[in-house]
Parts: sequence; structure tokens; C-alpha cells
Amino acid sequence: MQLKFICCDCHVGQAGFDYRCSCGGLLEVVHDFKHLDADHLKILFHHRLSDRMNPYASGVWRYKELIYPELPESDIITKYEGNTGLYASNLIQQSLGIRKVWLKAQSENPSGSFKDNGMTVAVSHGRSLGYRRFTCTSTGNTSSSLAMYAALGECNSYVLVPNEQISINKVLQTMAYGAKVIGFDGTYDDGIRFYEKHGRELGMYICNSVNPLRIEGQKSIIYEIAQGLNWEMPDWIVIPGGALSNLSALGKGLNDLRQLGLINKIPRVALIQAEGASPFHRMISRGESEIVPIPRPSTIASALNIGNPPSWRKARQVMKQTEGITCSVSDEEIMEAKTLIDRSGIGCEPASAATVAGLRKLLAEKRIDKNETAVCILTGNLLKDTDVLREYQMSRLLYADLTLESVGKWL
Ligand SMILES: *Cc1c(COP(=O)(O)O)cnc(C)c1O
Repeated sequence: MQLKFICCDCHVGQAGFDYRCSCGGLLEVVHDFKHLDADHLKILFHHRLSDRMNPYASGVWRYKELIYPELPESDIITKYEGNTGLYASNLIQQSLGIRKVWLKAQSENPSGSFKDNGMTVAVSHGRSLGYRRFTCTSTGNTSSSLAMYAALGECNSYVLVPNEQISINKVLQTMAYGAKVIGFDGTYDDGIRFYEKHGRELGMYICNSVNPLRIEGQKSIIYEIAQGLNWEMPDWIVIPGGALSNLSALGKGLNDLRQLGLINKIPRVALIQAEGASPFHRMISRGESEIVPIPRPSTIASALNIGNPPSWRKARQVMKQTEGITCSVSDEEIMEAKTLIDRSGIGCEPASAATVAGLRKLLAEKRIDKNETAVCILTGNLLKDTDVLREYQMSRLLYADLTLESVGKWL
């Protein structure tokens, strides 16, 4: 059975796999859910929670029927990704003064970010088509994830990395998994354009967020949240936005769940961007109809440092469909929220902390009511952007002579 695609802009269907429609719009996978039954799916997904060493033990492939039913099981490359914690933290709840907030820790994925949810699907798909060379342009987490799955599938990976504003840990992780890393002078957007133009000649399977299979895998984040909350949705889902692929996947996943009758209410979505890289927030808040790219984006949250988000049209549809709102937060607000999340024992990288910082702001502005409930999606691991952490934490290291008195004074 072949995958079917449709263009998000001109809505023309397409049988074969590609990254873009001939009109330039992004493609998305089309599913036929007509033969699926909500009650049966709930039981199936519940049973698979006790699976161990088969692909359905993955928090992505558990939902294979909704993600990629056509793929033979033997073609799945998985590290049992997903299955991440959904935490209710008193510390954060009280600090925000909201009735109920959960944090969905996608940071607990095998390579340390939510990119694994999509990458397991993309790399499995590419290899099943016969590709052995995988590529992406990345500010870090996408490449770490790609390199990990390519290695697991005994394939090669090649990563373009902009020299500016990268996190060294993420590049080291990518190289350790065996990827060839090619630095270049330019932005993330320049790299994406290069591969869209030349990827085919180079025999490369492209794993940037324009890849529609990644979106299918990333839908599992909202499926896991729904299942974790016993199919009762919160009032709000709060999510950080860079390339806006995660927001696109969230919207598509919510549509699936409602269409299937697995949930009866669509939560509203709050998308948070970093002030120095917030073209989407600017477009929405000014009521403009086209995105105006930011040529030199700048934020401490390396995963959000994107000036020209490729998925902005998909993201705008999600805003409409969920009565979504946007806001932007400063690097200072991000670091303050990160300190709180780290201190709560959950931990995350700066990009993820934008969610809690944004929720705080939206509560203060009364755009979200304190009697409502929210889930914040934490996208990446505490040990990802350690250059940022080092600066902040090293000044707080204590010193003592090993005597009772000297150590005791720090208690
Ligand atoms: C990729 C990434 C984001 C941004 O997600 P988009 O899909 O690009 O909007 C946020 N946080 C982390 C940790 C990421 O790796």
C-alpha cells in the first residue's frame, strides 16, 4: 500500500512521496480512518502500554494505525522513543497561580528532544524507499536525532550546521553518532534552501521539518498527552515555536483525535516564540497575512533561533482551527522559567522553558484564566544547551574545607 499526500496550499492530491507540491506548498500525509473505531483503538493503545521488545512499545509506533499503517513492521527503526513523563508540579503550579498545569517532558526521548518522535518515522520511511544517505540542516536537535536513527539503521548521515548560534553539545552528539557535519557561513534558512535544491542530485533523503513523515511521527506527542489524561483534554496546550513543525503536527494530531471520536473537545493552543526570533507571533498579533522573515534572528534558546519558519502556513491553519493565540518572551523570562523547571526536578533546555515563561505572561495579561488547565510541552533536555547553563550555574558553586564547621555552614 502506498502513502497518499495532499498539498496544504492548493489541496491537490499526490500519490508519490515528495517534500513539496509543484505549487511550492508543503505536503501532508492523508489517512483513511473510516474503518477505525474509537473504542477499539482505546483498548488497543492501552494494551500496548505493556509491550516491551517490539515496535509497539514505542510511544510513537503504539499509534501506528494513525501514523503510518502502510509500513511493514520489519521496516521500523525505533529506540522506543516517546513514553515520556507527564508531570504535575506543585512548585510550578503555585508559582504560576494556575488551577492545574502538567509538563509533558519530551526531553526524556532517547536523543534528548521531541525530534525523535518524528525522526523514527522519517528514517524508517526513507530506508524503506531504499535510501542510505540521510540529511538535514539543523541548529542541533534535529541533527542529533537524525544521526542517531541513521546509525541505528546502518545508514549514513550528513548534516549542514550554520556556524552561528549553535549549541556545541548538540553538534558533538551528532558527530558522536557518526554523522558528517559540514559547517557553513549562513543561516538555517540558507541550508534548507540548499538541500531543497540539490538533495535529489546528491541521492539524499531530507529530514528537515518540511518532510511530511516527520509531522506524522510528531503527532504522537498529543496522542500520548490525550491517552495520559484518559482522553480528557486540558483547556490549553502551550508549545514553543521555531520552524513551527511541532505546532503543525499538534494541529494535525488534534484533528485526527476529534475525527476519530477519541476526544470530544479541541483544546486551545498557545504558541510561544522567543522575542529575537518571533516572525510568526508578529504576523498573528499584527493581523498580517504573510510572514515577514527576520534576517538575523537572535535568542539564547538555540532551538528557536529561526527567522523564516518553513511551516508557517500550516501553523496559521492550526491557529484558526484551535482559536490559538501567540506571545513572545525575552531571553531573561526564558531563563527565569528554566530555573524554575530545572529546580522542580523535571528540567529542560531554554527553548522548552519558553512555554512556562509564555504561560506566565498570558496569565498576567488575562488571556489565559487562572481557573483553566494547561499542558506545557517541554521539547528538549536539560543537558542540551550546557554553554548557557555553565554561565549561570558556575558562579553558584560552593567551596569548603572538609571540616564539620566549614561544610556545615553551607547547609
Ligand atoms: C526543534 C525544537 C523546537 C522548535 O520546534 P519547531 O517544530 O521547529 O517549531 C523547540 N524546542 C526544541 C528543544 C527543539 O529541538
